[in-house]
Amino acid sequence: MAIFKSGVIFNGVDTQDPNCWTLESYVARGGYEGLKKLLSTGMTQDDVISEVKASGLRGRGGAGFPTGLKWSFMPRSFPGEKYVVCNTDEGEPGTFKDRDIMKYNPHALIEGMIIAGFAMGAVAGYNYVHGEIFEDYERFEEALEQARVAGFLGKNILGSEFSFELYAHHGYGAYICGEETALLESLEGKKGQPRFKPPFPASFGLYGKPTTINNTETFASVPFIVRDGSGSFNQFGLENNFGTKLFSVSGHVERPGNYEVPLGTPFSVLLEMCGGMKDGRKLKAVIPGGSSSPVIPGDVMMQTNMDYDSIAKAGSMLGSGAVIVMGEDVCMVKALERLSYFYFEESCGQCTPCREGTGWLYRIVHRIENGEGRPEDLALLDSVGNQMAGKTICALADAAVMPVQGMMKHFRDEFEYHIEHKKCKCNHEWC
Ligand code: SF4
Repeated sequence: MAIFKSGVIFNGVDTQDPNCWTLESYVARGGYEGLKKLLSTGMTQDDVISEVKASGLRGRGGAGFPTGLKWSFMPRSFPGEKYVVCNTDEGEPGTFKDRDIMKYNPHALIEGMIIAGFAMGAVAGYNYVHGEIFEDYERFEEALEQARVAGFLGKNILGSEFSFELYAHHGYGAYICGEETALLESLEGKKGQPRFKPPFPASFGLYGKPTTINNTETFASVPFIVRDGSGSFNQFGLENNFGTKLFSVSGHVERPGNYEVPLGTPFSVLLEMCGGMKDGRKLKAVIPGGSSSPVIPGDVMMQTNMDYDSIAKAGSMLGSGAVIVMGEDVCMVKALERLSYFYFEESCGQCTPCREGTGWLYRIVHRIENGEGRPEDLALLDSVGNQMAGKTICALADAAVMPVQGMMKHFRDEFEYHIEHKKCKCNHEWC
């Protein structure tokens, strides 16, 4: 898996080196210097949060919420335990970056969580890992043990007053446990279903205590910010979109993999890094930020930069940075059928519009794909989507609707062709 070796998280990491994940390798690259700096220079909790705010780091899990601001929501004077939780429940189609952080650079995540624990006065942290990630989970456990033995975790870290423990927790593979309150329920040993909000986790989180949840990539960016300062982070990217971002590129490219590039990098440059289109295909469309982000036509994408604002302007979302590249021979009806099935399968079933609506979406697209579509089906897709979006406990229903809306906006003609001719416009043998 290719990884562009520059930037914030993978700078200096030789992914071909089987020992690149070890404590020794991490320390040789300046690892744990951020933690040492804050403990030895008397930085306060406010100092750390201010530095993270100044960096402009935004949550890398999908929402893009400012990280420093999120950290400042944690109540300072709360008398009991507080927690930090890492969301490594990476299960969205197309997303595979967080497991590579655990595989190649787990100590960046560990150090980032320790620093977050310090900044928010947390006693412990938990890394919730998707249940279908096995080897990288075990590696993370090994890295945790290395950190404990070296005195970076536990009581009185590096001889200071600060104590913090960190645990890994293996989920069971449910996509919905990537929703932060479902993750907390699962971590508490219950069925992983989202909670009503408010209250938000910053006031009522894990075991009912104040809790901050961030994505793996977000935490792994923090050591660089504390060690080198927010100004160094700001050198990457552009206003409102600072730093680097890991993009998981899959689909019709010559070299799929994870690429860490500054936010604002043109998509055309990213595509070039991936070796261009597979077998010289023409670019048809791109899903730029994971399966829930609406599809963007290829010609628009070639004029778009990879940052939160540019992708939003093009009509989609940067999301988790899972870039699914589709060549000219992709049938959009079949692609949407697969995506719709995913959301139907992963709905937790609590809300009627989501439980029933995801099934309706899938079944309608399925029958169109199978030559049984009806003329009224496209209006029905719109209608079902309108009855789902914004009417449920969590955003999974919206996530199921957005790919449908994107396809209807840009590739409606393919669906109409399927309905009218009972077959695929592209006429491939596999359609
Ligand atoms: Fe569950 Fe769907 Fe409701 Fe989310 S929107 S709580 S996944 S039923």
